[in-house]
Amino acid sequence: MSCGSHVELLDFDRAELTAELEQRFGLPAFRARQLIRWVHKFRVKDFSEMTDIAKPLREAFDDAYTIYRPELAERQVSRDGTRKYLFRLSDGSAVESVLIKQTDRLTLCVSSQVGCAMGCKFCRTALMKLKRNLATHEIVGQVLAVQDDAAELGEVFNNIVFMGMGEPLHNYDNVMRALRLLNDELGHDFSYRKVTVSTSGLVPAIERFGQEGAPASLAVSLNATSDDVRSQLIPINKKWPIEKLMSTLRELPLNSNRRITIEYVMLAGVNDTKDDLARLPGILKDVPCKINLIPYNENAGLGFKRPSRDHIAKWQDRLLSRGFNTTVRWSKGEDIDAACGQLATANEAKQAVSG
Ligand code: SF4
Repeated sequence: MSCGSHVELLDFDRAELTAELEQRFGLPAFRARQLIRWVHKFRVKDFSEMTDIAKPLREAFDDAYTIYRPELAERQVSRDGTRKYLFRLSDGSAVESVLIKQTDRLTLCVSSQVGCAMGCKFCRTALMKLKRNLATHEIVGQVLAVQDDAAELGEVFNNIVFMGMGEPLHNYDNVMRALRLLNDELGHDFSYRKVTVSTSGLVPAIERFGQEGAPASLAVSLNATSDDVRSQLIPINKKWPIEKLMSTLRELPLNSNRRITIEYVMLAGVNDTKDDLARLPGILKDVPCKINLIPYNENAGLGFKRPSRDHIAKWQDRLLSRGFNTTVRWSKGEDIDAACGQLATANEAKQAVSG
């Protein structure tokens, strides 16, 4: 939370900031509302710009707090307009955010950890192992930094997915605080429908997410229809196998009309067989869900192959005919290696070589 003697302002959600300002300065709650508005809605980085706060108080805030932005180390633009941002954090770690351009919308994919402990076999981030959790200011900082950049291009994004580096539910508290900030109507004001947290299947954290009414939608990476295959691909399946995961999803308290996205990264010859297709509807029975088929991005270079377009289309047709709302998410920004969940560790390798 601190940077030298300063404290990161982006590490407080509104309730926490209200308590902090009361405790530290004896200030009433409207001061927290002012700060949330300035920092998250208007993206002000300097207290001197907060014109409705008297100068002595602005100076006191300036002495106490820092308004964080990650340093932009690199920005790549793909042929399809998708942009990848490489951010350098205060301790020198790097994380990536990707602004994905689709015909009808822009979606920001953010990271929640440096590296990841989950060890999924199809994911390059897994090779880094977990270095550390991101603090809330480092998560929300990605959003603000990309908003700054997009604003210069006259663009606005209104979808955010936690599908970058890291397992978001493994950094539960910091991610939840970031979700509350993103949802705060005085600040970013993203509806829970516009923010999606994607998990590899951490059952206790999923239960908490549902019980606490997290202001976000949930996506779960299924990626297999047998425990044998899923345990090989996603090692935590050994702890929380498919049926445990599905029964948790069936019982999850969700707001009305909320549906869980079931992600299925399609790996040729591994999880796309006839038997898989036959088993999937039964596994998902009574789970309030839609299915997102994700053709594997071979750029990850981990030895897996993407099935043919025809094969993927056949899966989609079959699942649609079984009554499942099913979409195919083709990777964007493949020429800049920007697929969500497969973010490059290339930068780490570069650093290791140069440093
Ligand atoms: S797919 Fe997601 S959860 Fe699995 S190792 Fe990669 S970043 Fe972690």
